[in-house]
Amino acid sequence: MHDLAGLEARFGATNYAPLPVTIVRGDGVYLFDEQGRRYIDMMGAYSAVSFGHCHPRLIAALSGQARRLDTISRAYFNDRLGPFLARACALTGMDAALPMNSGAEAVETALKAARKWAYKVKGVPADRAEIIVADGNFHGRTITIVGFSSVPQYRDGFGPFPAGFRHVPFGDATALAAAITPNTAAFLVEPVQGEGGINVPPDGYLAEVAAICRAHNVLLLCDEVQSGLGRTGRLLACQHDGVAPDGLMLGKALGGGLLPVSLFLARREVMDVFAPGDHGSTFGGNPIAAAVGLAALDLLVEEQLVERSARMGAHLMRRLQAINNPLVAEVRGRGLFVGLELRRDVDAGDMVRNLLQAGVLTKDTHRNTIRFAPPLIIDERQIDWAVDRLAEVLDAAVPQTVTEAAPAK
Ligand code: PLP
Repeated sequence: MHDLAGLEARFGATNYAPLPVTIVRGDGVYLFDEQGRRYIDMMGAYSAVSFGHCHPRLIAALSGQARRLDTISRAYFNDRLGPFLARACALTGMDAALPMNSGAEAVETALKAARKWAYKVKGVPADRAEIIVADGNFHGRTITIVGFSSVPQYRDGFGPFPAGFRHVPFGDATALAAAITPNTAAFLVEPVQGEGGINVPPDGYLAEVAAICRAHNVLLLCDEVQSGLGRTGRLLACQHDGVAPDGLMLGKALGGGLLPVSLFLARREVMDVFAPGDHGSTFGGNPIAAAVGLAALDLLVEEQLVERSARMGAHLMRRLQAINNPLVAEVRGRGLFVGLELRRDVDAGDMVRNLLQAGVLTKDTHRNTIRFAPPLIIDERQIDWAVDRLAEVLDAAVPQTVTEAAPAK
């Protein structure tokens, strides 16, 4: 048998550090390695696999469409895109949607829309538009986006970066109000920061932010690439605060775990800044992506996965909070978007590797946090099994960590 991990290492780039497991098959909440060993997927491909792996209805939408019509580019209309965009707008309450592929592309689209809106509608002088972002943000990996990341590694070696971005602390509406100038086009924010450590802002933060933006004629752009589509127990995480943004980004789960499918959705006035030739993507909105996206949205509603995420998320939180272990510093999250933060002297990466051995797939994220974003189809029994394994792994780590951390006598 090939050394598959070795092949990736030999011929790939080293921009990821995968855990030592090669997955060859997926089914629902489970993944299987080369030896047929089963793992429960508590990561959900960074929230891209809300429906479970290889959902038969999504596979049918994908393969049915692939047999009928593939990519034709946006030089022509296709019979799948309109229904997909209409469904996405009806569900989210937005007026219009622009299809892209990756989440980062949807964010880039939002940034372009906001700047052009600032010049054409708000009347900001040419090349002076500012966009405010939050500390600890994660919006993707393009040069523009990493240019306003607050993680030094994401920026290191990739400058120079586009100008026109300012930072405010996440969760601090007063700081946002103070940072706004007459040239401010937009505030870009994740309603729950995912990669930044599953950071949930104070209750009412987003509502306050929305009021401030409205008062200053500033667009509120919510990046729900990760937090959207039921992940936090509401269709959109901004709905926890009753907020309807001016621009919205969706991705990840929108492709049903099968394809990269993303959308920038907006109010009509914002979307109308785009004229033919201003923006585009060869594969964005292709018939297969549109068919899968539409099937994913239908499935989300029909299987009541948003409500399920709220219920199962509450169960997961209860179970994690009940873990009595000195290594645990905090459990936080919303819906099935949960982070368990470990004490600073504990290596979350070690725990994640031990969890892999125990049959649980997850991944650490910033600030010593283990992330849990399982498929929304997960049930209580499966959550219990995964949390029991976690509790065992943490228990096994206690004496070792305490000994290592103890000062030398
Ligand atoms: N925005 C948010 C909030 C994300 O969490 C991510 C990815 O993790 C992205 C954008 C980028 O998405 P993609 O990796 O599909 O470009």
